[in-house]
Amino acid sequence: MTDADDPLAVFRDRFALPEGVIYLDGNSLGALPRATADRLTATAIKEWGAGLITSWNAAGWISAPQRIGDKIARLVGAGEGEVIACDSTSVNVFKLLTAALSLNPGRTTILSESGNFPTDVYMMQGIEQLTGGSVRARLVEPAAVEEAIDNDVAVLLLTQVHYKTGRMRDLARTTALAHQRGALAVWDLSHSAGAVPVDLGAAHADFAVGCGYKYLNGGPGAPAWLHVAERHQERVTPALSGWFGHAAPFDFVDEYVPASGIARFLCGTPPILGLAALECGVDLLLEADMAAVRAKSLALAELFMARMAPLCARHGFTLVSPADPVERGSQVAYAHPEGYAIMQALIARRVIGDFRAPDILRFGLTPLYLRFADIERAVEILAEIMAQSAWDRPEYRVRAAVT
Ligand SMILES: *Cc1c(COP(=O)(O)O)cnc(C)c1O
Repeated sequence: MTDADDPLAVFRDRFALPEGVIYLDGNSLGALPRATADRLTATAIKEWGAGLITSWNAAGWISAPQRIGDKIARLVGAGEGEVIACDSTSVNVFKLLTAALSLNPGRTTILSESGNFPTDVYMMQGIEQLTGGSVRARLVEPAAVEEAIDNDVAVLLLTQVHYKTGRMRDLARTTALAHQRGALAVWDLSHSAGAVPVDLGAAHADFAVGCGYKYLNGGPGAPAWLHVAERHQERVTPALSGWFGHAAPFDFVDEYVPASGIARFLCGTPPILGLAALECGVDLLLEADMAAVRAKSLALAELFMARMAPLCARHGFTLVSPADPVERGSQVAYAHPEGYAIMQALIARRVIGDFRAPDILRFGLTPLYLRFADIERAVEILAEIMAQSAWDRPEYRVRAAVT
């Protein structure tokens, strides 16, 4: 595949990308869709400014979490009424872990892998604290996860595509194994939704969560989403029993009664401005065919790795992403002892990727707005930086708050 025969080439113009920037960080903060700014203006001026509180009904604010959730469901192979857009990924991990624990009484372990995205692990540890240690947060090495699913594991918490390396787990196979051993599974799809084809239905998945601001292009701090298989929904009494998840929030009664269906997993008032932006990002992705997105993502990665091979040999980069495309999401990552300074030199030359401690340069591949020419140019610029040791400057070693 080249830029000339790229079926997704038309999508680039649907994003407001700055001139001269090669953006390889859409896995961390997706780019701005052109439609979003107008939508935000309309939501603020017409719906909020003019409509005021009547917009909860008249502009459909009240049903936005379900409406957008149903759209996200189509991206991850879930059914209508199985996904809702709400809260942050972190909060949703808490909600689903406590839900899973309640469905699997008699078992007390939450199992995950060491090196998982920190917030997932911190939430496990928080639940251990909250329960006075009666629930155990257990981490094992990534390769040991499957054998560690013993008869005390209530719930397995895994990220399908690893945030640093891009290593992708087989969601269907691991879910089936968890079920065989009597455990439930919560999947974190933060680096999967909108990046790789996902079929939660076919995998008979129990629960999933994901971010809105990465491959869904929902904007900084966009609302996240959660998925609960329909068969589990009515059996869970949410631990975060907020009024928006009540059966009749506007009855204002003292007793909590959960809403039926996915709505019970809401907590407080939905952030309407954030949801409006998220919906634009999701709508745009729904226009693209996920199989085409995946095919282009792999072609971009293949080109990136081919161009990087000489730099690995000459300048000490080590590929930390799986070489096998079946085991890789939509990013490539390299380790280098001077990774931080090298990334700052790249960003100074308007090639934007990111750095993950201790030594990883991450390059996100977002097929809707990246061209093959961008990949060629990015690696050329990196080669120049390395040939001239242009990264070796004190200002490139100063760590910013966000890396
Ligand atoms: C980005 C990411 C998160 C982020 O959680 P927030 O609550 O949005 O900060 C969680 N899990 C994974 C795997 C991620 O990659």
